[in-house]
Amino acid sequence: MSRPPPLWPTRPVADPAEFAYRRGGLLALLACGLFVSAFTLLAQVGDDFSDTDRMALSVIILKNVGFMVWLWRRPRHFLAIGLTELLLEIVAAIYRLHVTLHSPPSMNGLGGYAPWMIVTYLAAFLVLPTRAALAVSLVQFGGLLLVGLGFSLDPRSHPVLRAALGNTLLQTYLVHATFIAFLALQQRLLQHYIQALVNARHEATLARQDALTGLPNRRQLTSWLEDALPHVSHQPLSVVLFDLDHFKRVNDTYGHDVGDQTLQLVGQVLRRCVRQRDRAGRWGGEEFLILVDGDAGAALAVAERVREALSREGLAQVGPVTISCGVAQAALHEPLDPLLRRADEALYRAKHAGRNTVKLAA
Ligand code: GH3
Ligand code: MG
Ligand code: MG
Repeated sequence: MSRPPPLWPTRPVADPAEFAYRRGGLLALLACGLFVSAFTLLAQVGDDFSDTDRMALSVIILKNVGFMVWLWRRPRHFLAIGLTELLLEIVAAIYRLHVTLHSPPSMNGLGGYAPWMIVTYLAAFLVLPTRAALAVSLVQFGGLLLVGLGFSLDPRSHPVLRAALGNTLLQTYLVHATFIAFLALQQRLLQHYIQALVNARHEATLARQDALTGLPNRRQLTSWLEDALPHVSHQPLSVVLFDLDHFKRVNDTYGHDVGDQTLQLVGQVLRRCVRQRDRAGRWGGEEFLILVDGDAGAALAVAERVREALSREGLAQVGPVTISCGVAQAALHEPLDPLLRRADEALYRAKHAGRNTVKLAA
């Protein structure tokens, strides 16, 4: 039986694109709050604009600037910042509704802040996954409902206010419920979309990876070569093409599986002894190719290093792996095929020179 997903996120959002979307969204929401508060403070519309309003708006402005700087500089604190913001918004919404309903009658309905209470739901669905966001939204919705019910059912509440605000309160709750339901639906769609993106990216990686060794495959190597060749005038580029010596014997003597394990071992050694910027991959069969960001001298050194490393390695029953290498430096304006042909010719000469050696192309 599969376990239901945890209500609360146990780790930050894993996918970088989703995280960028959520972080950008929260930053935008904080920026909107900042702008709206500053605008309201400057406009000071209405007779009932009090010192308390002035102070509250100033606090919101300072808080939003602080949170934006925090989130900008420390993306890893996204969840902590988001949850703090949610807590403040929920407390503020419930408190403001309570104060407004239990103050002397005003012509301000539920108060100037009331339309903004729905922003909490937006923030919740930006910060949290669907179930947790729904739970947090319902906490605020439930709090507001309790305050409203308390006001409507309390015989001590002001009768004029109770009559005037009954429908406004009802419509507010309906808007809130609609908003929460819509956000939950939209979050599901977003999750499907993000999953499709993640899958597509995974498939694209697999399409450029060799299944047996995990190394970049011929398609990936070709694409890197085609990208790098136009720049050889200011960034020299060389290739090392190598082929395992007498590999057929390994297959014939020990079986295909041992042959496969040998190829995997070559992959491990390449990952270990080729620098990150020199990219190595499986060219096909028992042939491998290394792109060296450097001239023929640098490539010869890489080839020798790999040849020596492999000659020290090997499966117990098979013994050391020896290779023959052909090295070629790309000439100015040289297309891909002639470069590979020169490397292949050098490899052929290495085989004829007795194998387990490196030859430079003419
Ligand atoms: P040389 O020193 O001249 O290169 O001799 P060789 O035996 O290595 O050369 P040959 O081209 O005759 O043999 C290559 C062998 O590599 C034949 C093929 O079965 C084997 N091979 C190619 N791809 C794979 C693979 O994915 N797994 C295994 N186990 N063997 C493979
Ligand atoms: Mg071969
Ligand atoms: Mg071979």
